[in-house]
Amino acid sequence: MNPWVIKFQQELAHLYEAREAKNIAYWALQTICQCETTDILLGRCDHLNESQEERMTDFLRRLSQGEPLQYILGETSFFGLSFLVNKKVLIPRPETEELVSWIGEDYQGKSVRFIDIGTGSGCIAITLKHLHPQMSALAMDISEEALSVAQENANRLSAEVTFLHDNILAPKSECGALDFIVSNPPYITHKEKPQMRKNVLDHEPHLALFVADDKPLLFYEAIADFGQKQLKNGGGLYFEINEQFGKETKEMLERKGYEEVTIRKDMQGKERMVRCRKKR
Ligand code: GLN
Repeated sequence: MNPWVIKFQQELAHLYEAREAKNIAYWALQTICQCETTDILLGRCDHLNESQEERMTDFLRRLSQGEPLQYILGETSFFGLSFLVNKKVLIPRPETEELVSWIGEDYQGKSVRFIDIGTGSGCIAITLKHLHPQMSALAMDISEEALSVAQENANRLSAEVTFLHDNILAPKSECGALDFIVSNPPYITHKEKPQMRKNVLDHEPHLALFVADDKPLLFYEAIADFGQKQLKNGGGLYFEINEQFGKETKEMLERKGYEEVTIRKDMQGKERMVRCRKKR
């Protein structure tokens, strides 16, 4: 086995299972040596040059302090596309890819106009625009630093997205007659912190993750209100949700004038997505 794989497994044992540590070592080797998995398997990356050794050592030091690999690399993959990430944006998750797929099923080939609220890295809005160029895309975030990452991602992927700097809790933006709204807002309550992995808790932006214990639906309610003003009648609302709050989210949406509320499970069988329509 490649000596770096063994080293990563040993030194990251407090954070990652052996298989995960091996994947991370492969990822790091592929990036630093610009090689493929087969090169590693064939022993072509067993001996690195001095600068590669230094970079691998630095990677390992940062990883062992719990820093996510995606931040160290400055890049991650979402829906097969490459997105720049830094500590100011959440690392896009596979669950969110499922939300993007759901929207694709519903609006394939349609010239619709949408907004992504709390866009972070821009992964949702940019991927939708990339996959469905006929859509017209808006994306909002409260963080200017996040918006600059998102703008750079949009440029890199040649996706035309209009970014808005606004606070959904007191929105000033007028979007006018949207076909749908999508959001993966902060939904983890502070009391869930003890169950969270240290690499998420210590390194990802709390602004993007957390909501007060006594108001877990704060952002969902604000977005639902925003939708009542900015959506066409019959327009869609798509959310990623905290698996614990499916029922409450459904009730809240029905109370606020939405219908056909559907909860969908993610690949792990957790209630993770909601779709509904503004009443006609
Ligand atoms: N929309 C981004 C994502 O889905 C950011 C979400 C967030 O920061 N809460 O990854």
